[in-house]
Amino acid sequence: MMKPIADNAPLKELDDWDDFVAIRYQQGKSEEDFRNYKADANRTVTEFYRQNHAYQTLDFVRSKKAEYCSLKRGKKSIWEMAEYLNTLVDDSDPDTDLTQTEHLLQTAEAIRKDGHPRWFVLAGLVHDLGKVLCLYGESQWAVVGDTFPVGCAYSDQIIFPEFFPANADSAVPEYQTEYGIYGSHCGLDNVHLSFGHDEYIYQVTRKYLPEEAGYMLRYHSFYPAHRHGAYRHLMNDNDERMFEWVRKFNPYDLYSKGRERPNMQEIRPYYQDLVSEFFPDKIDW
Ligand code: FE
Ligand code: FE
Repeated sequence: MMKPIADNAPLKELDDWDDFVAIRYQQGKSEEDFRNYKADANRTVTEFYRQNHAYQTLDFVRSKKAEYCSLKRGKKSIWEMAEYLNTLVDDSDPDTDLTQTEHLLQTAEAIRKDGHPRWFVLAGLVHDLGKVLCLYGESQWAVVGDTFPVGCAYSDQIIFPEFFPANADSAVPEYQTEYGIYGSHCGLDNVHLSFGHDEYIYQVTRKYLPEEAGYMLRYHSFYPAHRHGAYRHLMNDNDERMFEWVRKFNPYDLYSKGRERPNMQEIRPYYQDLVSEFFPDKIDW
C-alpha cells in the first residue's frame, strides 16, 4: 500500500508549488500543453490543489482576513521578517535549493538589472514575505496556490476545476452564478480571492508602497486573471490598467529561479538603502 500523504502538508516544501507554476508557465508552451497540466503535476502537487480547492470557501477567506489583515501579530522590520521566513527551509537541499530570502533577492536583482523603478525592485524583494503564514501555523493550501475569487462561479481557467465540487460553496447557489455576491465590474478590491501570502503581504505593505506595487503583491498568484484573462467582468478600469504591472512583474517571479545565488555581502547595502527609503524601521505584521 502506498504511504498516505500527510493531510495538512502535501508539498515537501512550499516552493514545490512555485516550481510547478514555473514549469506550467515557461515560455513557448502551446495551448495543448496548458490543457495537459496534469502531466507536470506530481502526486503531492495534485493533492495540494485538491485541498486548496476544497477548503478555500468564502467563510474561510473572511475569517482569515479578519485574523491576519488587522496586523495584530507585532512589529518587525522587513529584514527580521526575511530572516524569520528563512527558517521555513530546514528540509531543503542547501546545494540546489535557494532559501526564501535568496528567491526574493534574485527576483529583485532581475528587476533591478532591467532598469525598473526602485519601488518595483522593492516589490520583488518583499513579494513572498507573506509566506510567514506557514510559520503562524497555516496549512500550505491557505498560504500558496493560484488564487481565485470565492463567492461567485469558478472560472474554467482555474487549474484542476474537478476539485471544486468538494468545496462547500459549490452547494450554495448564490455563490455559483457568474457574478455571485458581486456586482458587474465592481472592482477587485471588493472581491474576495482565496486566501494566501499575496493578500497578507499586500495588507502589511499597502501604506508604504505605490499602488502599482500593491497590485503586484496582491495579485501575483492570480493566474486565472493575469495569465488567462478570466474574471474581467469583475474588474474595473483601474484594475485593467494596474494589471499591466502585475503582468510585468510575473516573469521575474517565474524565471528568477535557478539562476546564480545572489551575493548577499555585495548587494546588501543597496537593499538596506532601498528598504529604508520606503519603510520605517519596524512595521505591523
Ligand atoms: Fe508568491
Ligand atoms: Fe515568488
